[in-house]
Amino acid sequence: MNTIPQSTDVVVIGGGPAGSTAANMLAQKGYEVVLLDQARHPRPVVGESILPHFWKYAEQLGVLEDIENEGFLLKAGGLTIWNGEIRQMKLSDFGFERPGMHVERDVFDNILLRGAERKGVQVFEEVKVREVHLDDAANRAVSYMDKNSGEAGQIACKYIVDASGQAAVIANQLKFREFDPDLRFMCVWGYYENSDYIGYGGQIYPFEDRWHKDRRPVTFASGLGDWGWCWHLVQKDLTSVGLVMGPKEAAKFKAGGGSLEERFARGVARVPVTSKLLEAGALAPDSVRAIRDFAYRPTQLCGDGWYLAGDASAFVDPINSAGVAVSFYTGYLAAWSVAASLEKPERAEYYRTLFDSLVRQRLSLYRISALPEGVNSYAEEDYPLALQAAQFEKNSEQELLLVQVYLTHRRENLRRLYEMDNRIKYDHTDRYDTLPHLIGPDGSPFHIDEPDGVMA
Ligand SMILES: Cc1cc2nc3c(=O)[nH]c(=O)nc-3n(C[C@H](O)[C@H](O)[C@H](O)COP(=O)(O)OP(=O)(O)OC[C@H]3O[C@@H](n4cnc5c(N)ncnc54)[C@H](O)[C@@H]3O)c2cc1C
Repeated sequence: MNTIPQSTDVVVIGGGPAGSTAANMLAQKGYEVVLLDQARHPRPVVGESILPHFWKYAEQLGVLEDIENEGFLLKAGGLTIWNGEIRQMKLSDFGFERPGMHVERDVFDNILLRGAERKGVQVFEEVKVREVHLDDAANRAVSYMDKNSGEAGQIACKYIVDASGQAAVIANQLKFREFDPDLRFMCVWGYYENSDYIGYGGQIYPFEDRWHKDRRPVTFASGLGDWGWCWHLVQKDLTSVGLVMGPKEAAKFKAGGGSLEERFARGVARVPVTSKLLEAGALAPDSVRAIRDFAYRPTQLCGDGWYLAGDASAFVDPINSAGVAVSFYTGYLAAWSVAASLEKPERAEYYRTLFDSLVRQRLSLYRISALPEGVNSYAEEDYPLALQAAQFEKNSEQELLLVQVYLTHRRENLRRLYEMDNRIKYDHTDRYDTLPHLIGPDGSPFHIDEPDGVMA
């Protein structure tokens, strides 16, 4: 096994999509990169609905074939049920050349990490970063603990990219991590065996049909209580189901008796349609996990000698399946900024400013798109930034986000953008369909006569 070097050009903290992307791109540019991850991959992680934006990065990262060969389940689009209204959209309507996917994230992330390694990144797993030393450029370094040997060490470096996800190493150390007061929620998720699923057109299919090319699944989401929601996405072997609960629903969920598994199964049973899809299914043993209050704001994104990428920079409600796409974007941009700064150190501040403004604009657009309607404590700051991101030349990725907001009943959040610049498209009715009903496995109309599910 290689020993951890004492110095390098760049240390990347974390081997999720953001860290692997940043490290891979920097290695491709000829820099010496050390990536440390406290876990051993493949490691469990949630976030399995992957938007088709991914493919352009896959090509650049040299993992296209590995992803194709893995044979993740391809999806047709999205379908939502909010307040009894059924809406669907098809990804191919947005000009993407390749479909989105439902992936097993442990496998997906491992492919990305091994891809970075092939490009020359020195990867060390089960090595936890304990502290970063940023004050003095001549002594910039990362302190770590090797979890296997128990040995502590330090790597001197010119730059640090923090892609440590929710652990947010730098933001916590420098105490600028700020939780998002508008997105206080709890999420509980688990995996089911043998669940039925929904395809484009609203047809319900049995689990075994999921590979049929004309019966590709959609990512299915339904409204839950005040502003929560429930996801249902079928994968290769299992189906991922999650409840995202606002404070009221979370309080009811917590007050319910029994184990986490029991409360989760009861909560899911109260979600119309999802409970039907799961009628023949069974909750996989030890598969239920919970997380709370994990949305936070991008207070700082970079500084002298360091950049944040992926969840380490900010996070919102995952309702638009944008987390992994943002990780690729920020990882890619962090690599670009670090490389440019190493090449022209006298311009480093300019590259930081550029990174900060590009990332901040995009994060604001994603934040607005994920907020419950009528809520934004940071509207004065968010809207002008989001407008800049939305004013970019129209492209399929942006168009998709604006339509997703329709499907998840968060469209009013965009009205102000439209009022600021009426070239931002507000009316997307041509890009999604409303269905009168779903179609049951036997071909008969499947009506939803229950209200949106609640935990009570
Ligand atoms: C409930 C939920 C549902 C979601 N659904 C979706 C979805 O459907 N689609 C989507 O695109 N996104 C989704 N997301 C978001 C997505 O999962 C994240 O945005 C994505 O994983 C972020 O990637 P990352 O590389 O920034 O961090 P991560 O993937 O979290 O990777 C961070 C890595 O850093 C390592 N690390 C942490 N601390 C240290 C340390 N001190 N030293 C060394 N290593 C460290 C960890 O071991 C980990 O491997 C969801 C998120 C949640 C919470």
